[in-house]
Amino acid sequence: MQQPSPLIWKAFVDKNLCVGCGKCTEACRTGAIRIIDKKAVVDFNRCVCCAICMRTCPRGALTIVPYSFPILQREVERGEDLDEIKAQLKGIGAQLEGMERSIEEL
Ligand code: SF4
Ligand code: SF4
Repeated sequence: MQQPSPLIWKAFVDKNLCVGCGKCTEACRTGAIRIIDKKAVVDFNRCVCCAICMRTCPRGALTIVPYSFPILQREVERGEDLDEIKAQLKGIGAQLEGMERSIEEL
């Protein structure tokens, strides 16, 4: 499995929190969000990571995450190797901690 880059960030919907109100679809300037089956769905090819949707959602259902997260979630749903995915998540977590430390040192 190819290691996804944690440095690309995209909007991500927590479907348990989304109530399908459509406020994010109105706010997104690139047309990256559609409501499908009463839940917001992000087109990652259109998302430019501006975070406007995150600030608009009244339910806190939208966050900006490393692109790797939704990719890995899809792999979990498809039944891919969980141990391999866990190892990748650990690696991403370590890289994010490193980035956080670098920012704190600025
Ligand atoms: S604004 Fe939030 S709750 Fe409303 S559709 Fe978008 S993600 Fe779902
Ligand atoms: S981060 Fe910006 S471009 Fe991406 S889905 Fe949200 S509003 Fe649209």
